[in-house]
Amino acid sequence: FLSVGQSGSNLSFLFPSLIESGVSFRRIGDILEARPDVPEAAKPVELPASFGSIRMDRVTFGYSAEADQLRDVSLKVAAGSYVAFVGPSGSGKSTALQLLSRFYDPRQGAVSIDGHDLRTVSEASLRKLAAPVAQDTFLFNTTIRDNLLLGGADRTEADMVEAAKRANIHDVIAGWPEGYDTPVRHEGGSLSGGERQRLAIARALLRKPKLLLLDEVTSALDPATEADINALLLRLRGAHTIIAVTHRLASVVNADTIYVFRDGAIAESGTHDELLQRNGLYRSLWEKQRGFHLSQDGLHATVDVD
Ligand code: ADP
Ligand code: MG
Repeated sequence: FLSVGQSGSNLSFLFPSLIESGVSFRRIGDILEARPDVPEAAKPVELPASFGSIRMDRVTFGYSAEADQLRDVSLKVAAGSYVAFVGPSGSGKSTALQLLSRFYDPRQGAVSIDGHDLRTVSEASLRKLAAPVAQDTFLFNTTIRDNLLLGGADRTEADMVEAAKRANIHDVIAGWPEGYDTPVRHEGGSLSGGERQRLAIARALLRKPKLLLLDEVTSALDPATEADINALLLRLRGAHTIIAVTHRLASVVNADTIYVFRDGAIAESGTHDELLQRNGLYRSLWEKQRGFHLSQDGLHATVDVD
C-alpha cells in the first residue's frame, strides 16, 4: 500500500528497526495516512489539481448523536488566501478542519469545493488537493531523506530539495555532516521542535497540495520559532491556500480572514483590525493576550488564550 522514494523500495528494506520492534505495516500506514471512515460515491467526481474556493454551508456535526460539536457553521475560503480558525479550547476548530478534509460528513449542511459536495468527490483527488499538518509529527528512525520521501513513489531528489527549501529547512539539513542521510533518532526527539515542524511542512509540500490544513502547528514552539514558522506560512500564501487552526493569536494578525469559534459556532469573522473594532470575543481574547505581552516586557505575544 505504500512505496517509498524513486526506487519503490518496500518498508521492510527501509525500516528494519521498526519491523524488528513489532510495529506493523498497518500501524505505519495509519500514522502516515489516517483513513477517514466515510463512504466514497459510486461515481466520484475527480477534483482538478487546483480549485477556486472551499465552503461550509450551514454545517452541523456531532461525533455522536448526543451532542453537536459544530452548529450551523458557514464559511468560505478563497484559493490562495490565509485563513485562521481561533477560539477557546474545545470550541470546534479542529473538528471543522477535519470536516474540510472529509474525515467526517456533516449531520446537516454541506462542505464543498467549487460547488462539489465532498460526499460526491473522489477520495484520491481530495487527498491530492489537501494536505494536513498536525502539531505532533511522527518521524521514523530512518534518514531525513526517507522521512521526507515517505508515501510517494513519484518524488525526485530535486522535488525533495525544493520542498525543503520552501519549508526553510534545507540550509539546516545541508549544514549537517551527513546532510539528507542524517539519521533521525528517538522518533524525531533528536531534532528541535522547529526542525520537526519544518520537516512536517516540507513533507506536506512534497505532495504539491493546493490546500494546507494546519492544526496548532506552532503551539509547542518557543516564541522566536513560532514567529519564524508564521513568516514561512505567510510566504506560502498565494501558491497555496492555508487554513490554520490556532488558539494563539500572535500568528493571525496577517490572516486574510479570521473565524472566531465559540461553543461549536462561529461567533465572529473578519480581519484582525475589523475584529478588534467589533469589541467582541476576539477583542477580549486579544486584550487578555496583550496584557500578558506587556507584563512580559517585550516578549512576543504567544500566550495561550484559553
Ligand atoms: P478545538 O480544536 O477548538 O480545541 P475540537 O474540535 O477538538 O476543539 O473539539 C470540539 C469538541 O468536540 C470538544 O468538546 C471535544 O471534546 C469534542 N471532540 C473532539 N474530538 C472528538 C472525538 N473524536 N470524539 C468525541 N468528541 C470529540
Ligand atoms: Mg484543536
